[in-house]
Amino acid sequence: MEKVIAKKKFGQNFLKDHTVLNKIIQSMPNNNNHIVEIGPGLGDLTKNLVKYKDTTAYEVDTDLIGILNSKFAKEIEEKRFELIHTDVLDAWEKKGSLYEGKYDLIANLPYYIATNIILRAFEDVNCENIIVMIQKEVAEKFSANEGDKEFSSLGVITKLVSKECRLLFDVPPESFDPPPKVTSSILYVSKDTNVELDKDFKKFLKACFSQPRKKLSKNLSSVIDKEFLSNIYNELNIKETLRPHEVSASLYSQMYTKVKNGKK
Ligand code: SAM
Repeated sequence: MEKVIAKKKFGQNFLKDHTVLNKIIQSMPNNNNHIVEIGPGLGDLTKNLVKYKDTTAYEVDTDLIGILNSKFAKEIEEKRFELIHTDVLDAWEKKGSLYEGKYDLIANLPYYIATNIILRAFEDVNCENIIVMIQKEVAEKFSANEGDKEFSSLGVITKLVSKECRLLFDVPPESFDPPPKVTSSILYVSKDTNVELDKDFKKFLKACFSQPRKKLSKNLSSVIDKEFLSNIYNELNIKETLRPHEVSASLYSQMYTKVKNGKK
């Protein structure tokens, strides 16, 4: 096989561990959804995915396109695999969704844009399940619960848009070539496709978590009138001393509705 030099700028750490590849395949949801893979790389995960389901893959690196086209020539011919040469964030921008029907996102993500990709997949109405390899520290933020010190705006958003979110298992650096500097984890999210977050909700959360170790009321007092804020705390029975990570996702959602409705 051609020797490919992994490119740092594209977050290329190729997964070589067959045990991990098998475990990812075993974690796939049992449904008839199409698969979308982001960053097929040298095609090791792709090879396993196309055995089970029709797959569409998005790859940005021009140097990998020829390799993938010849590796999957048969599957492309049989229309079981489609390779799209583009930056996946541009594809979302242009098309709105990565696939025209229901799909599950399964990928070993490029870590430099992993958070953006997951947040974008939350907004894609056709995406139902997400199984992705990401940096363990980031996976812990997505799967954190209220009260955990890692509970941040990412955890709040995930709780609101998902039926279930779990960290499935960890993957050590030695499973990749080249090995990344950090431990990785497989994150599983089953989306609640009925939920659509208001476009300004993220801005509200940004203010809530602006100083994560200060009281939430302090963070909000710089953007919301003090008396109005105090009324919201009373109506929702929120303790004034709570820090941002101690407030539940559902309370954040209720607070946001009140703030939004209260603004003239
Ligand atoms: N799936 C392969 C594997 O498991 O060995 C490769 C995973 S590697 C961590 C990330 C892959 O994402 C690389 O193939 C990289 O070129 C690709 N990639 C990076 N940025 C991308 C982008 N913006 N859009 C699409 N693919 C991207």
